[in-house]
Amino acid sequence: MAEYIKRRSVHSIIEQTGTLTFTRSKMHKQVDSLPTTDVVPVIRGSWNLLRHDRFSDVFQCSECGRKVSLTHGRDVLEQFPYCHCGAKMSAEGGSI
Ligand SMILES: [Zn+2]
Repeated sequence: MAEYIKRRSVHSIIEQTGTLTFTRSKMHKQVDSLPTTDVVPVIRGSWNLLRHDRFSDVFQCSECGRKVSLTHGRDVLEQFPYCHCGAKMSAEGGSI
């Protein structure tokens, strides 16, 4: 499993220690001592306009097919910035 650390923290170690006076093993030890962070990939989706009628707009999630209905004048991204499937929604295809 991959482990993630802050790039800034590594830069800070390099700045504090200098590369000429620090052995490779000490540098590895310093980097290994940094706290790791849990990272999950972001699933990106979009609300695609499925139907537009006199009273409402129906949008469908590009990732799972979930449908949401909004009255005219409401911003789908403001109401549903994330779908229930976890996808982070973008404006692509989400406006009329
Ligand atoms: Zn979805």
